[in-house]
Amino acid sequence: MRVYVSVDMEGIAGVVHEDQTNPVDPRCAGEYARFRKLMTGEANAAVEGALSAGATHVVVNDSHWDMRNLLAEELHEAAELLSGGPKRLSMMEGIETGFDAALFIGYHARAGTPRAVLDHTIMDAIRDVRLNGRSVGELGLNAALAGAYGVPVALVSGDRATAEEARALLGSGIETVIVKEAVSRHAARSVAPAAARRLVRDGVAAALGRPHHPWVPPSPSTIEVDLTFSYQADYAELVPGSSRLGPLTVAYTHADFCELFRAWRAFYNLARAE
Ligand code: ZN
Repeated sequence: MRVYVSVDMEGIAGVVHEDQTNPVDPRCAGEYARFRKLMTGEANAAVEGALSAGATHVVVNDSHWDMRNLLAEELHEAAELLSGGPKRLSMMEGIETGFDAALFIGYHARAGTPRAVLDHTIMDAIRDVRLNGRSVGELGLNAALAGAYGVPVALVSGDRATAEEARALLGSGIETVIVKEAVSRHAARSVAPAAARRLVRDGVAAALGRPHHPWVPPSPSTIEVDLTFSYQADYAELVPGSSRLGPLTVAYTHADFCELFRAWRAFYNLARAE
């Protein structure tokens, strides 16, 4: 069994603020160093769970910010680490090489979710993303790409809002691990990191012990992205084949979801230009 693990940071137990997940601001260095260690711990817990369920190959993709957060020296020896950037498929790089299941660890709720720790979709400038008319975040877009490659998402871990987003989108068959409950965007009640690692390990073992179905996006599919400022949409609409639905909204439709995902990647990278 080949298992793919995409690891983000905002949904790791204990994390409540950007200062804890910011790898570039020197003022955050102390806090960030502590929390990247906790991130690595939950990634390893997922690897252990996968191995106990019979995984023979595990790829761990660092999926946060500049994608150089997981501590290579502390990674479980049975796993392969995919880190750095740019990566063509970003948080899902490598999924195209074929897996039996994907696990989303440390994920967070989509932009605009109340009572969710650090809810966002890639970056603050993105207000909303709709896939075939339905609001989705990183979780939904990444699950759809996995589905396009025939890979089911077996488990999502993060706060309660993330778990609810996963179940509402992917169905009740998905295993969810809730490591914290948001009080507000920047406050939460969290289990201890050691308890979170146990929950992740046991959750992954249970999830991989039963069948899951890929969440396959319809063909064609349409993505709509709402940005904050019109100049961001001015840049995003440079993507060939895209359309400008309004002052702040760009859209793209394609029969092949992998091409659509590529357009999505290009939308948000272009929208970052100033
Ligand atoms: Zn992140």
